[in-house]
Amino acid sequence: MRWIAARAVRCEIVAIGSELLLGAVDTNSAWLSEHLAAIGVDCHHHSTVGDNTGRIAGALEVALSRSDAVITTGGLGPTQDDVTREAIALLMGVPLEKDPLVEEALRARHLARGTEMTPNNLRQAEVPRGAQIIPQTLGSAPGLHCLVAGKPVYALPGVPREMKEMASQTVFPDLVRQAGSGAIASRTLRTFGVSESALAARLSDYYDRLGQEGSNPTLAFLASAAEGVKVRITAKAASAAGAESLLEEHEQALRSLLGEAVFGLGDVGLEDAAAAGLCAHGLSLGLAESVTGGLVSSRLVSVPGASGWYRGAVVSYDSAVKYSLLGVAEGPVVTERAAVEMAQGAIKVLGSQVGLSLTGVAGPGGQEGMAPGTVFLAVVGPGDKESLRKLSLPGNRETIRELAASWALWSLHCHLLDL
Ligand code: ATP
Repeated sequence: MRWIAARAVRCEIVAIGSELLLGAVDTNSAWLSEHLAAIGVDCHHHSTVGDNTGRIAGALEVALSRSDAVITTGGLGPTQDDVTREAIALLMGVPLEKDPLVEEALRARHLARGTEMTPNNLRQAEVPRGAQIIPQTLGSAPGLHCLVAGKPVYALPGVPREMKEMASQTVFPDLVRQAGSGAIASRTLRTFGVSESALAARLSDYYDRLGQEGSNPTLAFLASAAEGVKVRITAKAASAAGAESLLEEHEQALRSLLGEAVFGLGDVGLEDAAAAGLCAHGLSLGLAESVTGGLVSSRLVSVPGASGWYRGAVVSYDSAVKYSLLGVAEGPVVTERAAVEMAQGAIKVLGSQVGLSLTGVAGPGGQEGMAPGTVFLAVVGPGDKESLRKLSLPGNRETIRELAASWALWSLHCHLLDL
């Protein structure tokens, strides 16, 4: 939970500097945008304009016509091409006036550094009449806080370090103050087994109801093959309790739409979800891994307290080990039948109530006429309960093994949910 702007505020960024139009990278706008988002201020437009008074004034006019506030960066230096001050004064319809305090600070700075103060340096003491100074702590050019037709324009230096300091110390707190402070909080639903597009299709009515622009809460999808799709809900409210209750309401709504696909919240992993299922039913697990060679076991033992429910694994990579150790019937081993016999063998050899097994082809070549990516998973027990899954996984050897491990943990989780 963080404190943010309670009312919707739109703040636009105008990056000033001819060098930016010639290929220099505008990192200032990126940094500002990221930090505006973090305080709940919407930024819908970035624009870039060269060092020209008329064009800067024009860009500001457009920005102010569609936003509540504008931040400019650059063009506050001492040289003739630094004309941000002139452009703002033009727009405000006021003259530039020397600010005695800024002039004094500039003189003191030059004295302390033993550098000569030129008339040009004094340009930095010129301020549009009525503007407030944003104090400079790192460089020489102060920033400006001006009101143009009742809306704030914050003019910050172009040097990133100076710009960041002024934005953090003055601009962001000012924007939050204007909007009244509120709370922002987010919650991430973890899903697996459903693709991002299928998930979006299931949520399309819900999404439409939320609406796009300025909706509260907002929804974001973050997809990663081996970890599934994360659905992040972000809610804003006047109080922390309000944001939490909005999250709660929408988490429940999403859970009912996504059903079994949701396996947890936040940083929870598939192994945690499977472990929780075993603990909830007081069951122990034995594992027989082939294609993943120990990956599933490694993920299971990463869960604290695994010794309470995990008996261990047989990494039966060679077919002969499957036959002799696990009692798999001689013959093809990349089959549904072999997967079931491996899981049954794990229960017997390891003395567990539930058995999980994987057998398949990681590639690059095929095996027993099966294409790389073909994986059979079985979960057996307690009693004669059985779940089987055949997968055709994409990717190279590494990806196939990682995906197979995730699918195995997911299958175990689903199997236990059904008990
Ligand atoms: P100062 O008086 O402190 O020099 P200024 O407002 O005059 O500040 P500019 O002269 O426009 O700033 O730019 C100074 C330097 O800051 C540029 O040479 C460039 O290195 C960097 N800079 C300017 N604008 C940006 C930007 N949008 N993104 C990243 N760096 C920038």
